[in-house]
Amino acid sequence: MADRVTKEIRSYNMSKIKGKNTSIELKVRHYLFHHGFRYKINVKDLPGTPDIYISKYNVAIFINGCFWHHHYNCKLAYIPKTREKYWISKFNKNIDNDIKNKKELEQMDIKVITIWECEIKDCFQYRMESLLEEIKEKR
Ligand SMILES: [Zn+2]
Repeated sequence: MADRVTKEIRSYNMSKIKGKNTSIELKVRHYLFHHGFRYKINVKDLPGTPDIYISKYNVAIFINGCFWHHHYNCKLAYIPKTREKYWISKFNKNIDNDIKNKKELEQMDIKVITIWECEIKDCFQYRMESLLEEIKEKR
């Protein structure tokens, strides 16, 4: 268990520090591009630096890792047994940030869509089809 956590942290740090894109982000981007959507990625000018922003529809998309964003009721969102307190406060901070960023974006009249890691892993095709609907949906 400890090894597994260490590995996840390491790969997360690598991906964030080097600005390397995670494979689930790439899968979503490729799907959207293939379906004719054009977008910006890692938009630092917007709250929370959305992973994808589609200006035509004024939609910001976050692709969240279930562990780091502590996806509610998700099997991937476990709390490591060691340093439990540290993790809980870390997850709470991440959750608070996500809520704050979403609010700020919505105040700017930007629609926010969150895609979870487990949705991509378990039912990619279904999630992508509903994503296209969500993007085009009138607010
Ligand atoms: Zn999840």
